[in-house]
Amino acid sequence: MRKTYQFRIYPNKNQEVKLDRTLSTCRHLYNDSLAERRRQAELNRLKKEFDVFPWGKPEWISYEDQQNSLPLTKTPKQKEVFSQVLQNVLRRLDISFKNFYNGFGYPRFQGRDRYNSFTYPQSGFRLEDGKLYLSKIGCVKMIQHREIEGKIKTCTIKKDIDQWYVSMSCEIEKPIILAEIKTEIGIDVGLSSLITLSNGKQIEPPEFLRESEDKLGQEQKRLSRKKKGSEKRKKQRIIVAKVHRKIRNQRTDFAHKTSRKLVDTYDRIVFEDLQIKNMLQNHHLAKSISDAGWYQLISLTKSKAEYAGKIVDLINARNTSQNCSGCGNSVTKDLSVRTHSCPFCDLVLDRDHNAAINMLNRSNSTVGTTGINARQGLLNRGSMQRDAQALQGLGSSQFLHRFFVGVYM
Ligand SMILES: [Zn+2]
Repeated sequence: MRKTYQFRIYPNKNQEVKLDRTLSTCRHLYNDSLAERRRQAELNRLKKEFDVFPWGKPEWISYEDQQNSLPLTKTPKQKEVFSQVLQNVLRRLDISFKNFYNGFGYPRFQGRDRYNSFTYPQSGFRLEDGKLYLSKIGCVKMIQHREIEGKIKTCTIKKDIDQWYVSMSCEIEKPIILAEIKTEIGIDVGLSSLITLSNGKQIEPPEFLRESEDKLGQEQKRLSRKKKGSEKRKKQRIIVAKVHRKIRNQRTDFAHKTSRKLVDTYDRIVFEDLQIKNMLQNHHLAKSISDAGWYQLISLTKSKAEYAGKIVDLINARNTSQNCSGCGNSVTKDLSVRTHSCPFCDLVLDRDHNAAINMLNRSNSTVGTTGINARQGLLNRGSMQRDAQALQGLGSSQFLHRFFVGVYM
């Protein structure tokens, strides 16, 4: 089981210069290696056009090629960086090419604002008396606000405007003991930031999150009034970025607390499968901002549940807001109708409450999950124990989805 810890680090002036230089060297290596692969692709295209192929097959540059030539072509700047960190840059590039072959965008050149992290994939780092030792950087002060469990596998250093963080991915060996399912809950996450549970309870995001969002609007307006290319605009951009960071941290905090509460209270938790939703919906809707927060909430709930031996099910929530949770009849209503009121069985419920009950019911019946099972290609089977439990009559909804994780930069 993997668990990621993130701590803030406080490099001194000298170390910060080194960290910045490392980032810059990595970014240049990334861009140069991308350019190399692009040149080769272009050459292949030309060869094909002019039919030079009979004399030779097209040659592609692979991760291995670039990795092998790295030690031979090292620049003085690259020599200042731990070699595995550089290799990881090539690995990242390779992953973005693999993503491209899987239908995502063509790898892009990275600007200074975008490329903000580098990774020690195996070694070159260690914890020493509460400090973080990084090869070629030094011993950096770190605030470790919680114990680290397991063995640290990778160590990523990240810059966030004017702050630095370390995130460590740890391998934890812990046998998964499935908890007995005594309590279960369906959860409806909507367009608003409200969460509705199938028992009728609602979880509201904290007020300060809304306040920060208002502030973001104000600062963005201010930014739009500043003259392009001016010093003042540059400063305002940093202010906007910092408000963004604040909101991101507040959202993460909210998601952590909510998922903790859910996992502590319930043994089985049912969410809508947002991947299925996004496939069914049109592309623009799919990228809605609220979804990003829900993905985070669901993935945090999943990892906490896994750790506690509890279950998170993701289901196709199609029509859960339209169908009556009392009698199963379809009661169509558009988004503005907030109350479900059934003409067949006289059930009157809050719209989202009705949807949450439907989700829980659907996850219990195999019929409801056939939509998921049809998409075998996307399925990631749960553990053997989960399969066994599914056979014991809990339905086939224990198959969990793997979230797409892109290159993390
Ligand atoms: Zn009804």
